[in-house]
Amino acid sequence: MRFFDLHCDTVSTQVARSGGKTHLLRNTGHLDLERLKKSGSLAQVFAAFLPTHEAAAEVGITVGPKELFDQIYAYYQKELQANSEILASALSGADILANDRAGLLSAILSIEDCVLLDGSLRRIGSLYRKGVRIMTLTWNYENSLGYPASPIPADMTQGLKPFGVDAVRKMQELGILVDVSHLSDGGFQDVARLSRQSHIPFAATHSCARALCPHPRNLTDEMLKVIGETGSVCGINFSAHFLNGLTQNYTKTDDIVQCARHIRNQAGIDALALGSDFDGINSELEFKDCSGLPQLADALAMYFPADEVEKICWKNALRVFTEATHG
Ligand SMILES: [Zn+2]
Repeated sequence: MRFFDLHCDTVSTQVARSGGKTHLLRNTGHLDLERLKKSGSLAQVFAAFLPTHEAAAEVGITVGPKELFDQIYAYYQKELQANSEILASALSGADILANDRAGLLSAILSIEDCVLLDGSLRRIGSLYRKGVRIMTLTWNYENSLGYPASPIPADMTQGLKPFGVDAVRKMQELGILVDVSHLSDGGFQDVARLSRQSHIPFAATHSCARALCPHPRNLTDEMLKVIGETGSVCGINFSAHFLNGLTQNYTKTDDIVQCARHIRNQAGIDALALGSDFDGINSELEFKDCSGLPQLADALAMYFPADEVEKICWKNALRVFTEATHG
C-alpha cells in the first residue's frame, strides 16, 4: 500500500528539539525517511509549525514566527539536499507522480498557523514561491485570518475576518491547499462557501469526528457532509485525544478504523484521508510510528474493500492536492 500523509510536525520538532542537529533520514521520533520508505510512503506533508504565545515558550521557542519559519525552511531545504536519493520536493500532484516514477518519496511543505501572513496578501505569494503548498489557517490562537476551534460557543461561531476571506481566495488562485484543521466552526463555514464558489476543494488535514469524540478540534457530522459535498478531504488524526478522548492517551488501530467508518458514512468514501500528526502528538500508538502504517492499511481492509483502502491511504489526498495546486 502507498501512503499520502497530510500532516506531520517532524521537521518543526527536529528544529525545536535539537536546533536541527538531528536528521530526517533516521531519528528517534515517530517518522523518518528510512521508515517511511519501508512503509511504502508516496508523499509526506511536513508542517512548518509556528507556535506563538505560551505554546512557543513550552517548546523553548524564543524567536518570532518569521524567524522560526526561516529556521525551519533552512532545515527543510538542507534535508532535501542531503537526502536527494530518497526524497524530492513536490509542488503539484504531477510532481508527486514524477517523483514516484523516479523512485523518490515526495515532500510537501505546509505552514501551520498563518500568523506568518500578518495581514499581508503579498506574503502568501512569497511563501508560494518558496514552495509552500498547504496553509493551515489558524492554530489555537486568533490571528489576522480568523479564530481557532474553541469550547466557548460564542468564539466557535466566529467566521473568517475580511483578510481571511481575501487570503483564502488568494491561496486558491495561486494553488495552495487551504487547511481548516484548528479553525473555528464559523471559519469552516466561510471556507466551505468560498470552496463552493471556486469549485476548489479544501482539507481538514488532521482532524477527526466530533460525534465519536466531542473535542472542538473535531468536525461535526454536518461539517463532514460539507467536506463530502465539496469534494474535500478529512485526514484522520492519530491522537487519542481526538479519537477516543480517553485519559490513557493510547490509540488503538481500531479507533482510527472506526473513525474512518463514521466519516465514510457521513461524507462518503472520497472524503477520507490520513493526517497522522506524527511528532506533534503525544499518544502512544498501537502501531507505534510511521513504520506501522501497513498495519493500519491491513486493519482498514477488515471493513473496506481494497479500492477504498487505497482511496483512504493515498488516492483521495492526491486528488485534492492535485486539484488545489492546479496540477
Ligand atoms: Zn495541528
